[in-house]
Amino acid sequence: MRFSDVLPTLPLEALVQQSLDTSEETVQRVIARGRATNLIEFAALISPAAQPHLEALAGASMRLTQKHFGKTIRMFAPLYLSNECINICTYCGFSRHNQIPRITTPLPQVVDETRKLTRKGFRALLLVAGEHPKYVSNGYVAEVIRELLPIMPNIGIELGPLETEAYRSIVDAGAENLICYQESYHPETYASLHPAGPKKHFNFRLDTPERGYEAGFKRVGIGPLFGLHNWRYEALATAAHGLHLLRHCWRAQLSVALPRMRPAAGTWTPNPEFHMFDRDLVQAIAAFRLLLPHAAISLSTREHPALRNGLVRLGVTHMSAGSSTEPGGYSTYDEEQWVQTKAAQEGEQFHISDTRSPHVVAEMIRQQGYEPVWKDYDLSLARGA
Ligand code: SF4
Repeated sequence: MRFSDVLPTLPLEALVQQSLDTSEETVQRVIARGRATNLIEFAALISPAAQPHLEALAGASMRLTQKHFGKTIRMFAPLYLSNECINICTYCGFSRHNQIPRITTPLPQVVDETRKLTRKGFRALLLVAGEHPKYVSNGYVAEVIRELLPIMPNIGIELGPLETEAYRSIVDAGAENLICYQESYHPETYASLHPAGPKKHFNFRLDTPERGYEAGFKRVGIGPLFGLHNWRYEALATAAHGLHLLRHCWRAQLSVALPRMRPAAGTWTPNPEFHMFDRDLVQAIAAFRLLLPHAAISLSTREHPALRNGLVRLGVTHMSAGSSTEPGGYSTYDEEQWVQTKAAQEGEQFHISDTRSPHVVAEMIRQQGYEPVWKDYDLSLARGA
């Protein structure tokens, strides 16, 4: 059974209401146990009643994270291949109606940028692109991966959803990690935000991690995009998705990301009703840790430095650093200081918030007694070479 069969059967609205009505006694009981075992207990942990107990919740999350991951943060870099996109996503800088310079980075430049990232320490790369079969076919992506593997041992992808067969050729090329964020798990919201293009097919996107798993990906990543709908609804649906994948894709590592909307090109304006405050994000991360103790939790440069510093010890396991969200963006970075030398980044997907260099972020992690891990995987392990 696919998650697209399960989602319509879940009482998500009722769970949101239950979360709003949760008592402090229930919250304290779940925190004291140090685990949430179902969606009702997860709803308690993301409730308003849990907010006075955030310190205890964060402490429980920290202990569980250290138990399963040690005091480590795995480092990765996104590399944008193309901002060509045939979809209209009203909140995204790459949306096809936005008048931005459209770039697909030529392969030699992708290799140069990857070498530049390896010189900053990175050994894990996430290839990101808009959805455009003319520019970003699975053949192009497989070719990029084959070319990069000798210098970058761990490659993941975050692209438009593909069929299982297309994913197989990407796995065969050497990718091991598939990320696909649902953006919103609320069907009506999703439909209003994605009026045109293949992305409007909600269920096809929803089942992407399962198709990727069948194709052989070793890690599958999910997440909402907070700010598009009620954050508790989205967190509950993501949690349900995670539990489903643990049952059905159990040989892969599950990762969860909890990105919040950032400013981007276009006319999208945030709905204040759906705003997620910093303390809400901290609470959600800790709640996910108590529900999914073994899941990787990823934190991007969308978040501001002070918050990222604080989250190192509270449940996060993966961090990007020094990121460019523009195809070809790393080519314009000063390599020594890792600062952007171009005045404007008109082709970026969104503005990042933490602009610190990878070196500075790694040092911040060390100062907290944690180890930045640059490499934790080699294809030879999977292939037995
Ligand atoms: S969110 Fe993805 S699919 Fe939508 S416009 Fe942006 S790049 Fe294209």
